[in-house]
Amino acid sequence: MRTKLFINGEWVEAEGGATAPSFNPATGEQIAEVATASVADTQRAVAAAREAFDQGPWPRMSGPERAGVLLRAAELLAERQQEIAVTEVRDGGGTIRKATAVDLPAAIGSIQFFAGCAATVPDSEAHGESAFPPARSVIRREPYGVCAGIVPWNFPLVMASWKVAPALAAGNTVVLKPASYTSLSAVELARAFADAGLPAGALNLVTGTGAVVGEELAAHHDIDKIAFTGSTEVGRRVMQLATGNLKKVTLELGGKSADIVLPDADLDLAAAGVLYGTFLHNGQMCESGTRALVHADVYDEFVEMLIDRTGKLVIGDPMDPATDLGPLVAPAQVETVERYVRLGLDEGARLLIGGDRPEHLPAGLDPRTFYRPTIFETDNSMRIAREEIFGPVLCVIRVESDEHAIAVANDSDYGLGGGVWSGDPERADRVAAALRTGTVYINDYHGITPTQPFGGYKQSGFGRELSELGYNEYRQIKHLWTSTATDRAGYAHLALLSPAI
Ligand code: NAD
Repeated sequence: MRTKLFINGEWVEAEGGATAPSFNPATGEQIAEVATASVADTQRAVAAAREAFDQGPWPRMSGPERAGVLLRAAELLAERQQEIAVTEVRDGGGTIRKATAVDLPAAIGSIQFFAGCAATVPDSEAHGESAFPPARSVIRREPYGVCAGIVPWNFPLVMASWKVAPALAAGNTVVLKPASYTSLSAVELARAFADAGLPAGALNLVTGTGAVVGEELAAHHDIDKIAFTGSTEVGRRVMQLATGNLKKVTLELGGKSADIVLPDADLDLAAAGVLYGTFLHNGQMCESGTRALVHADVYDEFVEMLIDRTGKLVIGDPMDPATDLGPLVAPAQVETVERYVRLGLDEGARLLIGGDRPEHLPAGLDPRTFYRPTIFETDNSMRIAREEIFGPVLCVIRVESDEHAIAVANDSDYGLGGGVWSGDPERADRVAAALRTGTVYINDYHGITPTQPFGGYKQSGFGRELSELGYNEYRQIKHLWTSTATDRAGYAHLALLSPAI
């Protein structure tokens, strides 16, 4: 399979026919040659999006008309759901169980949700009256113009749909750049929109590297908004590059979220929840609860439960529905995990389970991309408890009280997710309210739906995705001031310049 770029409604080769190989992380086999865009390709995509916004039909269509195109694209993806789920796993790892139950429904659901926004959320609303000078205010919400979306590899289709759907729904045009590890489902997304009748140039896909395509998009003066999801380090760079034309920036970045277990929690449920919150998709989730803060009263019992159940997780073929943990995205990601595990041991963290690659894997699987779920007992000052690993590593930290748990949870550069497990709703609410993060789950984890906002505090970024709040990140505000004066007396303020005018 050889992919192309999608620019101005056409599938085109990258400049000079440049491509890069894409591998199935489970087996190591090459599965595609992916077009690698140059700076000139990227500039062509931006020019197409600019033209489509300034002159094309898309921003001029009504909300319900745009909604119709989004709904059709969602339908086309839904028709090929199982096939695209397989592509997603072959390209980015994880498991078919997750791709089928989460990735495809989440991507399709978010497109449908933003279609609903386009159809029903008003573009303007009355905003009161001024007594003197007499005037009426209306707040209009208008698209920004050309939006760039740069997305990571952990949930390629979901992340791409979170950028493309609200931007298009609001009447913007878009240039999308997937992560270089995982471009194949973005190609499917662009195809679905093209087949759904999206006008040429309204969505452009430029696959390629962050250093070339990503930097060009972040710096380009014809882009009005950039929405970035990825690491905090690259997010910082994107923000710096965006200062040239002061484009609007939203950033969804990394995390090191704390999952707090209070002594009155249902420990059986909490143990399952903490493991789900950490090891789902091998911890390659930005809001993963990778620090479990466990109250001293239940610490020993709870940690035993975690170790025991972690030992039961099945590592194996991602296409087997019985597999709990498939491959990480690439050998380099496993090497990062290995570096952190060595660092943890050097720092004096106590390894409770895991800490290496699995000894036995089914035939045909690539041992370089699999890693055993790993639990360390740490304190919060260690680097493995402070830095995002983005792999299957849980740090368990003993806390002495609710206040201690809150202090440790908040002692982090990040502020994306977090959890509280408790049998006392008021106590859980009190702890949740004190956490400085964009989402807190009480007696649950990883809940994300199109109708609820998602985003970070602190160095986990700013802006919100999903929900009507996320939709409004793609609409800028125009204040319309209409004079309601009926005679010259209503314009007495004009004399401020001169009574002579
Ligand atoms: P990354 O930061 O390496 O890459 C993200 C995207 O940015 C990719 O498309 C990449 O090609 C591009 N990029 C790389 N260098 C660039 C540059 N200099 N200029 C512009 N673009 C550049 O992240 P990743 O490894 O793909 O993904 C993992 C990270 O994403 C983790 O930190 C994770 O927490 C974060 N993440 C956050 C959320 C969230 O919603 N907060 C969701 C998923 C992932």
